[in-house]
Amino acid sequence: MPRPGKDVLFAALRVSSLVGAIIWLRVRPNSFDLSAIYSLLGIFSIYSLMLYAMVMAQPAWAPKLYKTFLVPDLIFLSLLVRFTGSTLSEFEDAYFLLIALHTFYYQSMRAGLATAGLSTAFYIIFNWQSFALVHWSDLVLRLSFLFLVALSAGFLTWEVRSAHGRLAESNKNMDHKLDQITALYQVSQELGKAETQAQVHKLAVDATSVLLGAPVVYLLRPEGSWLRFVAWLGLDENLLQGRSVQTGEGVVGKVFRSREPQILADIQAYPESALADLDQGCNLRAVVSAPILSENRTLGVLNASRLEPGSFTNEDLELLGVLASMVASALQRTEQYESTKRQAITDPKTELYNYRYFSALLDEYIFNRDCKQLSVLMLDIDHFKHINDTYGHQAGDEVLNQVAATFAAAVRSIDVVARFGGEEFVAMLPECSIEEAIQVGERIRNRLENQPMQTCAGEIRVTVSLGATSLLQGESVQELISRVDHALYKAKESGRNRVRMV
Ligand code: GH3
Ligand code: MG
Ligand code: MG
Repeated sequence: MPRPGKDVLFAALRVSSLVGAIIWLRVRPNSFDLSAIYSLLGIFSIYSLMLYAMVMAQPAWAPKLYKTFLVPDLIFLSLLVRFTGSTLSEFEDAYFLLIALHTFYYQSMRAGLATAGLSTAFYIIFNWQSFALVHWSDLVLRLSFLFLVALSAGFLTWEVRSAHGRLAESNKNMDHKLDQITALYQVSQELGKAETQAQVHKLAVDATSVLLGAPVVYLLRPEGSWLRFVAWLGLDENLLQGRSVQTGEGVVGKVFRSREPQILADIQAYPESALADLDQGCNLRAVVSAPILSENRTLGVLNASRLEPGSFTNEDLELLGVLASMVASALQRTEQYESTKRQAITDPKTELYNYRYFSALLDEYIFNRDCKQLSVLMLDIDHFKHINDTYGHQAGDEVLNQVAATFAAAVRSIDVVARFGGEEFVAMLPECSIEEAIQVGERIRNRLENQPMQTCAGEIRVTVSLGATSLLQGESVQELISRVDHALYKAKESGRNRVRMV
């Protein structure tokens, strides 16, 4: 496909130059060698047709073809000038047109000057014999004009090109800003959906890495007087395992304490880095670090690093600040959410799950039939009323808490222990047979029997009774719990400090 625009314009120029030359020759009284001129115009027409046939066949070659055909054009023009009066020829002006066109097409000063140089060379070669007729100063003036035209055309195209460049640059900046706003909007949407602080941590490092184009990002959160790594990207997990930074120490510590963001051109030139081994190991150079601020607390520090020194700008710092404030509100919200949720499912005294949550979990297990078998244990402190009566309620509470802690510590991490109510506890043991459940119960009973408890009222010894049972096919939570309660009753009936099953 021929490109519309320049190709059509240039073709039209060639045709109109040809027609103009013919009309000029016919209306102007002169004594030129017309046959030579018409032959020349014929040759011009033929090679022009060839040129356009090639441009249409291979549009991609057009710039090269125009460049190549400049040589026959200049020879043609110089010969036309020669046959129409040499230095007196009125076709001389066509040189200017050719220079301007060539500079315009290639949009470069070099193209203009090259065309001017070639024009001069061909002009001199083909019109040499007539130079004797004109004064050398006349010739110099004529040639200077050619170069001046080349320079002005070049300068104009240079201006146009740099204006184009500036426009493209500002368009690019605008596109970049728009991308950033879109990305920030998406991040805010995702942060709004996060339910846990851990999700917020992960989203924060991912978003920072993408928005700042930083290969290494990490997030620290305070714990006492230490800052702990809670999420990171681009760093080896082994390097960070159990690692902390003291508040006030290094860049992140200072950012945390001062509540002011910081930008560092090269962390390796910074003498007080708290993580020098990590910086050197990963070859980190430029660093930008922002505090995550709520109204009266500093919730953490968000840190991004790049491998090229000095590569972060104030704009990056601002962007990180915006991200950090979005992360701050997401953290406050999820903190609140997590604490409300924790309160709703835990027993405040023993910090075990409450029975409501336990039965919901159990129901879910039974409903999904996740496990082939499931056993439950129920524990009751023997003669607890007597302990309360003898040592006081405070000591009773301490005993209750220690029994709860011992129970929770004696089971596997997949088991769930809850406070059933009063001084009674229940546990669900997935993938556990009744025999194994009895073994676990015995272990707890034994441990408590042999472990005197330290309380405000001195040492107290307690025993516990336990009931054990396994889930039956088609059984509901209520049925299961009432059977294990019955097993516990049997343990009490048969003398306490023992485990019984049904
Ligand atoms: P048994 O061996 O039959 O279980 O005797 P018991 O005294 O442990 O049982 P009983 O049900 O008669 O009494 C349970 C006591 O547990 C009564 C109640 O005051 C006490 N208790 C319940 N919850 C708490 C608590 O949170 N703190 C304290 N200190 N005591 C509690
Ligand atoms: Mg009891
Ligand atoms: Mg009881």
